[in-house]
Amino acid sequence: MVHIKSVGVIGAGQMGTGIAHVVALGGYDVLLHDVSAERLEAGIGLIHRNLTRQVTRGIVTQDQMDAALGHIQPAGELQTIGGTDLAIEAATENEETKKAIFKALGPHLSDTTLLASNTSSISITRLAAATDRPDRFIGLHFMNPAPLMKLVEIIRGIATGPETYETAVKFAQSLGKTTANAEDFPAFIVNRVLVPMINEAIYTLYEGVGTVEAIDTAMKLGANHPMGPLELGDFIGLDTVLSIMNVLYEGLADSKYRPCPLLVKYVEAGWLGRKAGRGFYDYRGEAPVPTR
Ligand code: NAD
Repeated sequence: MVHIKSVGVIGAGQMGTGIAHVVALGGYDVLLHDVSAERLEAGIGLIHRNLTRQVTRGIVTQDQMDAALGHIQPAGELQTIGGTDLAIEAATENEETKKAIFKALGPHLSDTTLLASNTSSISITRLAAATDRPDRFIGLHFMNPAPLMKLVEIIRGIATGPETYETAVKFAQSLGKTTANAEDFPAFIVNRVLVPMINEAIYTLYEGVGTVEAIDTAMKLGANHPMGPLELGDFIGLDTVLSIMNVLYEGLADSKYRPCPLLVKYVEAGWLGRKAGRGFYDYRGEAPVPTR
């Protein structure tokens, strides 16, 4: 089995920063990469703030926070990730973007580096086929926010080797996570079930069955969900929700997965949810205010 000491994380958005955070707390050295120095700086700033919050809440000690931050280094150039033991891609949910990253990384990879994608929905088999090592490629699907959520979904592509699988499971467990295996079909388990529910909530809004507030209150108090579906869509990122619906729609060729036109409109407007300051709620003031 490959012994993991260093981990590369590609993409320093919501998920990449969360993964870097949890992996560094686990004692691994982390190299974090994004498309620009500004994004990288913003990502490391976010990790700092999130760790500080955990210290304030008594979840992490100051010493653990200092050690974790000491483990994270920015990587201005993608190629430096090639020397790590495990490279986890957590860039935007777009197949071409992800394939281009693996293609650019390929020539710089050491022979033993394992590759993983944090994709929410895209075929692991197809992404693996775009690399020189489909046997050493796996889906490691962390949940959002990665430092808090207990699950890592593990997805084997058709060519993923048993050693890669065992190493990935051990690695996730070493971070205190529980794993669930999913077969490599569109959106795997969690998002196959969760995202069509969010899309249906958006249809419910679109058809005027309820307001944003009524839909979220109904699902929180009526189904005991910790977050309403529209709030959850904003939290995930509406661009990511739309990408997942498109992967389900195209991958399963079933009209029941068609994305709601209102979801498309929000994404076209750039109202992508919390990360953009606005989605089904406006987050720019003191408290979130529904936008419809
Ligand atoms: P995000 O929009 O917050 O971050 C994406 C980051 O990728 C951005 O910082 C962007 O600059 C960077 N990026 C884009 N192209 C890049 C490239 N060529 N090289 C390096 N970096 C690049 O998105 P996110 O929510 O962090 O999602 C990232 C991945 O994680 C997606 O595959 C998504 O499906 C998956 N995911 C998301 C969630 C969620 O709830 N948001 C949960 C689990 C998995």
